[in-house]
Amino acid sequence: MLDFEPRDVALPQGHFIDGKLAQGGQALDVMRPSDSKLLGAIPDATAELVDEAVNNAQQAWQDSGWGHRPPRERGRILRRWADLLDANAGELARLEAVGSTRPIRDALAHEVPFTAECIRFFAECADKFGGDAVPTRRDSLGLILTEPYGVVGAIAPWNFPLSMASWKCGPALAAGNAIVLKPSELTPFSTVRFAQLAVEAGVPAGVFNVVQGRGAVAGAALVRHPLARKISFTGSTLTGASIMSDAAHHGMKPVTLELGGKSPQLVYDDAGDLDALADRIVRGFTSNAGQACVSGSRLIAQRGIAEPLIEKVAAIVAQLRPGLTWREATRYAPLISERQAMKVDGAVRDSLAGGAQAYCGGGFFEHDLGGYFYRPTILTGVGSDMLAVREEIFGPVLTVQVFDDEEQGLALADHPTYGLAASVHTRDLGRAMRATRRLAAGTVWVNRFGRTGDFIIPTGGFKGSGIGKDLGRQAFEANLRYKSVLIDF
Ligand code: NAD
Repeated sequence: MLDFEPRDVALPQGHFIDGKLAQGGQALDVMRPSDSKLLGAIPDATAELVDEAVNNAQQAWQDSGWGHRPPRERGRILRRWADLLDANAGELARLEAVGSTRPIRDALAHEVPFTAECIRFFAECADKFGGDAVPTRRDSLGLILTEPYGVVGAIAPWNFPLSMASWKCGPALAAGNAIVLKPSELTPFSTVRFAQLAVEAGVPAGVFNVVQGRGAVAGAALVRHPLARKISFTGSTLTGASIMSDAAHHGMKPVTLELGGKSPQLVYDDAGDLDALADRIVRGFTSNAGQACVSGSRLIAQRGIAEPLIEKVAAIVAQLRPGLTWREATRYAPLISERQAMKVDGAVRDSLAGGAQAYCGGGFFEHDLGGYFYRPTILTGVGSDMLAVREEIFGPVLTVQVFDDEEQGLALADHPTYGLAASVHTRDLGRAMRATRRLAAGTVWVNRFGRTGDFIIPTGGFKGSGIGKDLGRQAFEANLRYKSVLIDF
């Protein structure tokens, strides 16, 4: 039985600096998304506190020699950390479920094991990738040496708190950097436990720190700090732009930006088994109630299949019911906050006022749980200029656009602003490959939707969806800087 009571969950309170919980900053309330009740509070870090945390991380990084340790030793420590994450899976999953939108069943089956496995993947990278010896003039030797940056500033969103933290911290630590991580102020607690377990596993105290607080103050102070030599950010496109500008004006530091998306699910007439397909489309836009960067929020369907497919999709989503995230039976996530709920509902209303029709959904569930649960919504009759098609909504909303020929489908699928992920559903290999080559998206899935546990596959967007990659060898290498050496002899 996975059910639990929120009051039985001990929250790690505070920042985590130099291996210890620390206070500092005004109390900022944190709410439970499922029932909108008070969960706890975090200290809202001031710029001065962030300054201290980064200076401290730099000192700990130097004193511990973390960046110079044999890579296999760092790998061993990270593997031990992953084992501790697995060993504490129940506690981590409860922390995640009580304070985020992840139902306990998902937190335990996906969130925590994926987090541990991600750390294991980067542990394995520690001694696999690095410098090179390159061909140069005969009387010289050309070397490319790699070295860590020092302190990496990492900023995470609220939608998958633990796994987003692991995507940032795994490669940074494996490559020999120190980390100062700012989780979202909406989901701050599980990340502290994640960091405590890193130190328990042998990451030197002060090499992995967590500062709590609001983005505009604590996040911005981290980006602007002169000793934060690289910034790794996941969040909205708007915040990403502000971070890129700050990073340019405060030390010209490299940024990895994993931003928003508006991912198409492009379905051809020959996509095959309609039930399996409808199930995939549903998972694509209702998983975490659509609060996923890769959410497949735009169905682009060929005319012959569109009507029966929408019918089946609507029949599946009609089964979804709201529930508290600390109940094992809950499958469907709440929206994170009232603000997010208003944003989702506003985008739907705007489209309806502009002439779209709600095939199903179009409002909140009626219930007495206290949280904001939005009914899975299918919008038909939408135009490319409508808000629901143009902008990321980050809720369980699927827009439907119908096409006749291949060119028309591809033109609709390619979004002018975003390019995070796309999925193509067809049994014709030629069509699948033409679409794969044509779509400007960082990830293209064929006849599937969503990531797997193959951490070797990097993720990251084109255009407004970001710069650089998380996961894969690419994320590890992005946490190293490259020094060119030429030796005459
Ligand atoms: P957000 O941009 O509002 O906040 C993200 C983080 O940035 C938070 O920790 C916040 O406190 C901080 N922040 C806010 N303003 C800041 C500033 N000026 N300087 C520094 N930090 C600042 O995003 P969110 O609402 O938490 O997350 C949802 C967004 O994240 C969506 O757009 C989603 O698509 C995106 N996302 C992208 C990926 C990806 O891999 N591409 C993965 C998950 C989420």
